[in-house]
Amino acid sequence: MIKPFIILLICLGLFSCRDLSKKTVNEHVTMEIVKQTQDSTCSLEDTLINRGLVNVQSIDPRIKVNLRYSSINNFLRTDMYGCLNKAYFQNETAHKLAQAQEYLTVIDSNLSLLIWNGVRPRSIQRQMWNSLDMPFKEKVRYVSNPKNGSIHNYGCAVDLTICEQDGKLLDMGSDFDYFGPAANTNREYMLMTDSILNFIQFDNRKLLRTVMIRAGFSTISSEWWHFNWMSRYEASRKYAIIE
Ligand SMILES: [Zn+2]
Repeated sequence: MIKPFIILLICLGLFSCRDLSKKTVNEHVTMEIVKQTQDSTCSLEDTLINRGLVNVQSIDPRIKVNLRYSSINNFLRTDMYGCLNKAYFQNETAHKLAQAQEYLTVIDSNLSLLIWNGVRPRSIQRQMWNSLDMPFKEKVRYVSNPKNGSIHNYGCAVDLTICEQDGKLLDMGSDFDYFGPAANTNREYMLMTDSILNFIQFDNRKLLRTVMIRAGFSTISSEWWHFNWMSRYEASRKYAIIE
């Protein structure tokens, strides 16, 4: 009786989000709860723990997690992470995320970081790469080449946004994994001039960048939601890829 009740509560909108993907995000959270109740063990999660990675919510439970690749609410429309529904990182990356959350809380205690993607094992990245039926030049725009590895493979990168305590997402001007100019961080003034981005969206992105950069993360020019704790070179010197 408890499971249908939880799902009913979610459907009533307790976790509703105010962006354009309201419906799909709600559906995703429902799926996650169902998954959590069905899967008592998760071999992928065991592998990550054995490799020394940590669940960021065990460091800071104020941080919210909604792994988009653990649902069909992603650009591949495929659940790539299966039973994994917690965000794992290298220990120092997780602690830096907690620091960013603290900076955010000081600015506005109603806001939380919401993580869409943490560590991504290379085997899953390879599956993503192989599932994209398009020329190589186009493919690299969507998924980084598994041959080279990515900072996500080391557990030192994060994809995230900001939400309110009731789960409503701050409007950032584009969804996660939106592959168009509106995702870019390096020409936001131009995007505002062209009315692709409005001032509120710009301000929300600035808030995310402020707390993340203050905690020590760096941005990239193509995706407002992606932050690196260290470069790929530094990560490769310090850690092994999670295969
Ligand atoms: Zn990313």
